[in-house]
Amino acid sequence: MTDSTTWAILVAAGSGERLGADRPKAFVALGDRVLLAESLERLDTSDWIDAVVVAVPPEWEDAAIALAEEIVASKVAAVVTGGATRAESVRAALALVSDDALVIVVHDAARPLIDDEVIERVLLPLSEGFDGVVPGLAVSDTIKRVDRGVVVETVDRESLVTVQTPQAFSASALRAAYAGDEPVAATDCASLVEARGGRIRVVEGDPRLLKVTTRADLALVASWL
Ligand code: C5P
Repeated sequence: MTDSTTWAILVAAGSGERLGADRPKAFVALGDRVLLAESLERLDTSDWIDAVVVAVPPEWEDAAIALAEEIVASKVAAVVTGGATRAESVRAALALVSDDALVIVVHDAARPLIDDEVIERVLLPLSEGFDGVVPGLAVSDTIKRVDRGVVVETVDRESLVTVQTPQAFSASALRAAYAGDEPVAATDCASLVEARGGRIRVVEGDPRLLKVTTRADLALVASWL
């Protein structure tokens, strides 16, 4: 796979405790397949993506390989065992991304409805010199900073966005952000690139990229399928 330049990391190693299922979130039913099938197939068939590395919970590697075969996902280069946190799962997958990759797209399997339009939106600004690009949605509620139940301040929501995945990065910026083997605590990849001074562009997100956390989220995403 030496000519592959845009790799995707699909993180699917979360436990999904809040779903209350008897299996990890990536393997609960969404429509007539498992949740992981949706994002994996969409990445695999995207013209923007050359290869995919999937991170799954320990003991679910074989199930993921079987799923990739079942949906005839031809771009899956590796299935890796994820870590205790999202960031550790990204790091484990990153170790399997080819040195030839120039761009890496990181996506949460918990957001099944990824499509080519949002992939294109996050990829294009990389050629303008940004280190990373994230999809964001405007905040509609009023946001307050709170300390032990008491309001400290009301934050200007005009300057706030909620951030989703897929997030796209130059491979060098993402690798630098995850370099070393110190445990990293970050709920998204962009925050680690930002912490090193990287420039991150925000593009329009997609409400359908809702992250499945609860049973109600699962039902909502299923209704959009
Ligand atoms: O837990 P949460 O839903 O916020 O996780 C976001 C994404 O990160 C999910 O797709 C989940 O599978 C993944 N994740 C992971 N490894 C972990 C925790 C979360 O790959 N240890």
